[in-house]
Amino acid sequence: MQFKCVNCGGNVVYDPKSGNMICVSCNSVNSEEIVKQEDSYTCPACGGALKVNDFTSATRCEYCGAYNIIDEKITYPYGPDLVLPFRFSKEQATELLRKEFKDELFCPNDFLSQRTLEDLKGNYVPFWLYSYDTHAVWSGIGTKVRKWRSGDIEYTEISEYNVYREMDIDFKRIPVDASIPMPDQIMDLMEPYEYKDLEAFQPKYLSGFQGETYNQTPVELEKRAKSKADMDTEAWLNSTMTGYNSLRPSQKQFTHQPNAREFAMMPVWKYVYRYHNTNFEYYINGQTGKVYGKLPKSTSKIFFAGGTLFAGILLLLKVLQFVVEVL
Ligand SMILES: [Zn+2]
Ligand SMILES: [Zn+2]
Repeated sequence: MQFKCVNCGGNVVYDPKSGNMICVSCNSVNSEEIVKQEDSYTCPACGGALKVNDFTSATRCEYCGAYNIIDEKITYPYGPDLVLPFRFSKEQATELLRKEFKDELFCPNDFLSQRTLEDLKGNYVPFWLYSYDTHAVWSGIGTKVRKWRSGDIEYTEISEYNVYREMDIDFKRIPVDASIPMPDQIMDLMEPYEYKDLEAFQPKYLSGFQGETYNQTPVELEKRAKSKADMDTEAWLNSTMTGYNSLRPSQKQFTHQPNAREFAMMPVWKYVYRYHNTNFEYYINGQTGKVYGKLPKSTSKIFFAGGTLFAGILLLLKVLQFVVEVL
């Protein structure tokens, strides 16, 4: 489908700044009507063939510039449950990149020039969001060491404690990207997203952007979700076991009972800058403005790094039993 202006016939796209649909030709606000394609792979505005791969759900017609949404890729079984609309526009994304790199010693002159800006694109990246009811049991030995001096003698007292912890944790929406072309590690660095802006999916948000449906099934990616849940469970357990010089587990058992799974589209600006025949990639979280990238010859940078490693996970501690600490 395509969003067309009822006033002038121009292409209507979603504007992250105002949250409105805007006609790129006459600037009318919310003047769109939906035009269906004869077939999903032909632009209804100009009849040009759309350049798509197996996963493309939204793309720009390379002949007339109109944005197209591929109906088959936004409906069952490929349709998203949720979407997090872009909040940073292309201009704002450019500004963020400029600001972060302007003082760099090796920033090349044409970085973010008008010509190279063509390669800054807004992408809706497919994510599976996993929710779990987790039960964690940890038991083992904690050691505390006390040292003191009396006269010429130094004393060391080592005390061992039986330590036992049992926790129930509700993990809400652990995000795992389901896009093969998007590097997993960088997508993890784009976190956290603020889930309060998640909405039920509407195709209009894709107009003006690139989009893809999931490339990997939720079953294929479950391992990554569970390892994120493991790491966070471990961190929570550790935060309740401070004050020991060492901890030796004898039993550690985490069970993650799935309770929900959703498919969401997350906003990411991607800029590809070509320098001396090498591509350098930059990513910006389209909701929070967090920037990732490195300039040629310069070291990696992560900005707005706020959040914790595991942020994006809403954690509710239901039961916390610290018992059995016996000398
Ligand atoms: Zn118009
Ligand atoms: Zn076209």
